[in-house]
Amino acid sequence: MSTEEQLLVRRIREGTVIDHIDAGKALLVLKALGITGKEGNVVTVAMNVPSIKLRKKDIIKIEGRLLAADETNKIALIAPRATINIISEYKVKEKRRVDLPDRFVGVFNCPNPSCISNAEKSIASRIEVLDKEKQKLRCWYCGRMLEVNELISSIY
Ligand SMILES: [Zn+2]
Repeated sequence: MSTEEQLLVRRIREGTVIDHIDAGKALLVLKALGITGKEGNVVTVAMNVPSIKLRKKDIIKIEGRLLAADETNKIALIAPRATINIISEYKVKEKRRVDLPDRFVGVFNCPNPSCISNAEKSIASRIEVLDKEKQKLRCWYCGRMLEVNELISSIY
């Protein structure tokens, strides 16, 4: 991060900074992570920040929470170029990228209206990643093959 960006997103003692989110996707990222703001942590969202790599990007900073890889991998379809910075005592303790997980549980809704995961509130959706490179995705319940875009629009 440049000094200018550090000023924009003030330094935090402990927490997670999600950088290089495609511009306009920050709120979707928060939704996929299940962060509503009701948890009480300080959450800072910066949108359309000038970026050399992406031209424009979003940044999210979550104070007091260290997100594990299996949590941040939930955003792999929404923000595939995101970089995760785990901050401890004002220093970057760990820097990692996001990887497609083997499955998404409870992140996206199956677009098939008659799928049991939509009919039964107690059943969390389960989307299997069959091919990580080709991004082949299938609902574990109804077997429908799913497009990345329809999954992303399912969580709006
Ligand atoms: Zn389904």
